[in-house]
Parts: sequence; C-alpha cells; structure tokens
Amino acid sequence: MNLILLGAPGAGKGTQGKNLSETYRIPQISTGDILRANVRSKTQLGVKAREYMDKGVLVPDDVVVNMVVDRIQQEDCVNGFILDGFPRNLNQAEVLESTLKKMGKKIDFAIGIDVERKELVRRLSGRRVCRKCGASYHVIFNPPVNIGMCDKCDSEIYQRDDDKEETIGARLKVYEEETFPLIEYYTGKGLYRSVDGIGSVDRIKKSITDAIAKGSDNS
Ligand code: AMP
Repeated sequence: MNLILLGAPGAGKGTQGKNLSETYRIPQISTGDILRANVRSKTQLGVKAREYMDKGVLVPDDVVVNMVVDRIQQEDCVNGFILDGFPRNLNQAEVLESTLKKMGKKIDFAIGIDVERKELVRRLSGRRVCRKCGASYHVIFNPPVNIGMCDKCDSEIYQRDDDKEETIGARLKVYEEETFPLIEYYTGKGLYRSVDGIGSVDRIKKSITDAIAKGSDNS
C-alpha cells in the first residue's frame, strides 16, 4: 500500500507516519527528516536545502523529487511506503504520479489530517524534537520526564529552527498556498480521505486505519 499523509506543519503527519509504519510494516519516508539529516551532515544537498528550510519555504522541487524517487526505488519499499511531507505542491504530485506509473505502482490513499490554524501554531511553537531518534514532545502538552532529554533514547531534545515563532507563519502560508490545493487534486482522483487531527494519537490513528479499511473494501 502506498500512502500519502497530507496536512499542515504540526498536524501530526510525523507522529502518525511512524505509527502507521509499524502497523502496516512499510517505511515512512519523511522528506523533512531526510533533508534535516543532510543539513546535519553538511552534505552539498543539505547546505543548499538549509537556506530554504530556515526561511520556512519549500526546497526546490528538483532536489526533493530526486531524493524521493531514489528512496521509493529502494528494496524496503516493495510492499509500499508512507510519504510524510511529500508531495507539497502540484508539480511534485504530478512527478510522483508519473514516476510511480513507470514503476507500475500508484498511490492508494492520500490521508489529510485536519487541524485548525490556532492549534497548529500552539503545537509548533511548543514542539521539541529528539536529535537522535526524532521523537516529538511538547513543552506543555507532552513534556519528557526529564527536562531536555528524550524519554526513548536519553538524547538531547531541541527546538527546530523552523519551529521558532518568526518562521511558523511563513510555513503555514506556504502550506495554504502551495500544499492545500493537493486536497482537490487527490479528491478528484477519488483518493482523498480526511480525518480529524484533534484528539489522542491512538484515536487519530484509528480514524486513519478505518478510512483505509473502508476505502479498500470499496475498491
Ligand atoms: P517538515 O519536517 O515536513 O515540516 O519539513 C521541513 C522543511 O523541509 C520544510 O519547511 C521545507 O523547507 C522542507 N521540505 C520538506 N518536504 C519538502 C517538500 N516535499 N518539498 C519542498 N520542501 C520540503
């Protein structure tokens, strides 16, 4: 099964992606995570991407598309994959579709996680992430047991540069202008399912798996 997780920054794509990846035993492919790993190891791609990421705008399509095309051709994607943070605009969606077609594959569902803007800002501004395993926390709603340390792997947790107040507005604007139109795109193809992104992680996950099970019955 090939899934796309759609939703604004802070909607919970990363959290649900990890969870669904375990349930369906298919890899989660987060373009944001891959880009951040490149930034950390200062690869050529990372140095280029950083300029855009720090401003909260999209990294050029050619960079991200090549990254994803390489990734979905890897062995562990034979039974499917979960795309988290890709596609982020119509051009990326179209290139993805034509690439998959050449591989004899297709997208099965595009799941949109709905969260209102005020809540997104609240989540993003308080978000803290583990440098090592990527686990996500919130300073108020989901703090780690020991301040500044990851509960899962004891590594340092930090605030992403682009989660700082000044960049959040830019990221949400990019979402509204460039990514939001994908809802119409995937609705037109009969692949879009939306779930309410407010509530417990388990409740939201169940909405997603239910939508998939229901959609699969119909097909
Ligand atoms: P994320 O972790 O998904 O919020 O992504 C963090 C940043 O990485 C974004 O604000 C963009 O600068 C960049 N990025 C991630 N995915 C994409 C994509 N599909 N296209 C362009 N830029 C991306």
